[in-house]
Amino acid sequence: MSNKQTINGLIKIIELYDKKADFEMIHLVYDYAKDAHEGQFRKSGEPYIIHPLAAAYILANMSIDPVIIMATLLHDVPEDTDRTLEDIEKNFGAEIASLVKGITKLGKLKYRGVERYIENLRKMFIAMAEDVRVMIIKFADRIHNLTTLDALPPQKRYRIALESLEIYAPIANRLGMDEMKGELEDLSFKFVYPKEYERVKKLRDEKLKGKEKYFKHIIDITKKELDNSNISVISIHGRNKKLYSLYKKLINKNNDVGRIYDIVAIRIIVDNVAKCYATLGILHSIWKPIKGRIKDYIAQPKPNGYQSLHTTVFAEGGEPVEFQIRTLEMHEDAEYGVAAHWHYDEHGSRRPNKEIKWVQELAQIQKDILNKLSDLEEMKVDFLQTRIFVLTPKGDVIDLPEGATSVDFAYHIHSDIGNKCTGTRINEKMVSLDTELRNGDIVDIIIDKNRKGPSADWLKFVKTHTAKAHILNFTKQKSGIARFFNILPKKEK
Ligand code: MN
Repeated sequence: MSNKQTINGLIKIIELYDKKADFEMIHLVYDYAKDAHEGQFRKSGEPYIIHPLAAAYILANMSIDPVIIMATLLHDVPEDTDRTLEDIEKNFGAEIASLVKGITKLGKLKYRGVERYIENLRKMFIAMAEDVRVMIIKFADRIHNLTTLDALPPQKRYRIALESLEIYAPIANRLGMDEMKGELEDLSFKFVYPKEYERVKKLRDEKLKGKEKYFKHIIDITKKELDNSNISVISIHGRNKKLYSLYKKLINKNNDVGRIYDIVAIRIIVDNVAKCYATLGILHSIWKPIKGRIKDYIAQPKPNGYQSLHTTVFAEGGEPVEFQIRTLEMHEDAEYGVAAHWHYDEHGSRRPNKEIKWVQELAQIQKDILNKLSDLEEMKVDFLQTRIFVLTPKGDVIDLPEGATSVDFAYHIHSDIGNKCTGTRINEKMVSLDTELRNGDIVDIIIDKNRKGPSADWLKFVKTHTAKAHILNFTKQKSGIARFFNILPKKEK
């Protein structure tokens, strides 16, 4: 694949979505990078320039802003060659130089012990908070490196794949970049859990064997019916479930592949929200929907912003088939997430209008706590795990890691609310404070103004670092002895 990629090929892709891009400049940037890397080679033996070019291709195929693509072409120049950032700025301007600077700060794929590793991650979170576009470049860089991992020794291969799976993919997920997340996961899966990878792949292939005709038939029927109702379809196509996501679902369903209905899903993209609901109604009039499988993520988006209507119906021959219905805008947001905001459409480029709050929080918190590997584990729980979203009684949405409790919720709102909470009502029912919250719960914290502070017992069940830190902090302030006798022994259990 990579040896067919050329700068002219890249420009052709960009032309498809941004006719007004500065193609001369893109050419110049490429020549500059090629010159700078002259005489350098990848581990595979190919000239180095194929790497930044391949990363740029990944982004062009997602219709990403050419400014980001130019920075991608230059992303390894300051660190690996004698050209400086100043020189890049002089030639190509401040914006490109600032992106290249961001990516250079992240450092390269070197592993020199745990401390350095943690240090690199800290840098990454800070760079991400300063400019999220840097992460978009980093993901493209990593995806291409993962496709060429075979050239590296097994140890190194494993480490890079594991980091991609446990840190990069969850970040991509939280940024709502499904396409990137899926790529990062499936490319790493193979190296991190090779046996499971083979097993799941075989399972999926078997399940899909000979099914193309069937799905084409279902798509034809759907198209015809929508046409009869004057709903114009922008696109309708089948998508195969990604392997790592299938693997995780299999674990949840006790390895019963019969209970997984979305190995193939049919995606329907229509003009507007009203047509999404109309399409859902038409599908249900052709085929009977399966109870409990209708999900309205348009009215209630997922915590990362994902929107779509999902339904599973008993299609021809009684076979369960999942449909996902969305507008073009929802589709682009789902595939490219935060990158969609730098994604070109006919109105020109769009910029995100609000800061991404959790990215800022992450940068702040890691500054204070990320010192050792165990901190990293906690941070992964706080920021990178599967999230649930729950509501305040006023209807504000709060997102928390899976398994969080009312105490985590209280501290998330304010440390005072955490310190003074004595009870909780979940969905209007009094329950104990250690009850795990579930998606969509309405949480009403009961406060006792006279309460002196948190209970050290809460440390046994709280999930977030924020809650833990506040509780520890408070108990510490109260008495060093209490901390020694109450908390430390408990923590060691
Ligand atoms: Mn690179």
